[in-house]
Amino acid sequence: SYRIDGYDDELAAAIEAERSRQEDHIELIASENYASPRVMEAQGSVLTNKYAEGYPGRRYYGGCENVDVAEKLAIERARELFGAGYANVQPHSGSQANAAAYLALLEAGDTLLGMNLSEGGHLTHGSPVNFSGRLFKAFQYGLDPETGLIDYDALAALAQEHRPKMIIGGFSAYSRVVDWARMREIADSVGAWFVVDMAHVAGLVAAGVYPNPVPHAHVTTSTTHKTLRGPRGGIILAQEDEAVHKKLNSLVFPGTQGGPLMHVIAAKAVAFKEALEPEFRDYQKAVVDNARAMAGTIMKRGYRIVSGGTDNHLFLVDLIGKEYTGKDAEDALGRAHMTVNKNTVPGEPRSPFVTSGLRIGTPAVTTRGFSAGDCVELAGLICDVLDGIGDEAVIERAREGAVSLCRKHPVYRS
Ligand code: PLP
Repeated sequence: SYRIDGYDDELAAAIEAERSRQEDHIELIASENYASPRVMEAQGSVLTNKYAEGYPGRRYYGGCENVDVAEKLAIERARELFGAGYANVQPHSGSQANAAAYLALLEAGDTLLGMNLSEGGHLTHGSPVNFSGRLFKAFQYGLDPETGLIDYDALAALAQEHRPKMIIGGFSAYSRVVDWARMREIADSVGAWFVVDMAHVAGLVAAGVYPNPVPHAHVTTSTTHKTLRGPRGGIILAQEDEAVHKKLNSLVFPGTQGGPLMHVIAAKAVAFKEALEPEFRDYQKAVVDNARAMAGTIMKRGYRIVSGGTDNHLFLVDLIGKEYTGKDAEDALGRAHMTVNKNTVPGEPRSPFVTSGLRIGTPAVTTRGFSAGDCVELAGLICDVLDGIGDEAVIERAREGAVSLCRKHPVYRS
C-alpha cells in the first residue's frame, strides 16, 4: 500500500488529529474555510508532477497540453466570476500575488499608501516587517477612531501630502463596505495606481453580495482560500489594458515565481466552477446573515462591536476597558472548542501580542451548515465564556454546547 497510514504513523496521526480538530471545534477565524472534496481531489492529483513554466500555449517545457486545459479553465472562470478582462491564476498565495502586482506597477523605492495593519490592513499593505514596507516607501491610512470606519478624508489628505505612486484598498479585519469608487477618485487625484486586495471578501464579491472592486481598480489581487472557498493560493485580475497584462504576467513568472503549481491551479478551476453555481450565492448571503446574527447577539449581551455591526463575513469585538486581553479571550474560547483570533481594535492600548479585541468570521461555520439560529446559540456560548472568563465550569459547559453544534453539522460527511 502507498498510504501514509501504516508507513509514516507519526505524520498520519497528526493528519488524523487535525481532521478531528476541524470536526470538533467551531472555526471562527475569518480567513479560513473548508475546501470541497472536489477541490481537494484536484489538489491531490497527478498534476502536482508537472512543470509548466510560462503560460498556456507558451511554455518552457514539453508535455503541457493537459495542464494547459486546466489553467485555461481557471483563467476563463476567474474572468467570468469577477467580470475581469484579465486573470492570472498562478500566484502561489495572496502575498505572492501582491508582490507581483506591486512590482509590475512600481520600482523599488517608490511610495505607496496602504491600510495600517493595526487598523485592519494586511502585512503586505506596507508593514515595515514585510517586503512591501522594506522595498517601498510606505505610508499608512486607517480608521476614524470615533466611528471605526475608514477615514477617507484623512486618506485623501495623506495622498496629497505624500503623492504615492500606488494606493492599496482592501483589508484583513474590517466589517463594512469599502467605497471603491471614492478610493479610485483619490488615487486619480494624485495620478496613483489603484490596487485592491480583495482577499477577504472575494467570495462575497463573486456572489454579488459585496461591491466588486474590479471595475474600479487598475489591478485587483486576491487569495482563493478564504470566503472564495478554494485551495490555498492567489490570483491577479485586471481590466482591459494590454500593457498592464504583459507586466503582470512577466512579474508573476519569471519576476517573482518559478513553475506554477498545476494541481493547485486545477483546484482553483474547480472552486471557480463551484462559485459560479447559484447555490454559492445562497451560501454567501448566509455568511453575511450569520455574521449579523452573531454580532447582534453579542451586542445585546453588552459587548461593543467595532463600527456597531457588520456588512460582510466578519466583525471585531472591542474588549477595551476589560481586565482580560484579547489573548486571554482567545485562549478561553479555544478551550471551549471555539477558534477565534485576537485582534487589535481602534484606539488599541495593548501590544499586538495580546490586544484588546477578537476577530470573528462566519465563512467556515456557514460552509458546515450553521443556520442563523445556530449562530445566535454560538454567540451566546461565546458571551458565556467572556462573562465568566477564568471560570473552568463555564468553559466546560460552553464546550459541551460547541461540540453538540459540531455534531449537528459535520464538515466532511464520510
Ligand atoms: N491579503 C489579505 C487582505 C489577507 O488577509 C491575506 C491573508 O491573510 C493575504 C493577502 C495573504 O495571503 P497569503 O496568506 O495567501 O499569503
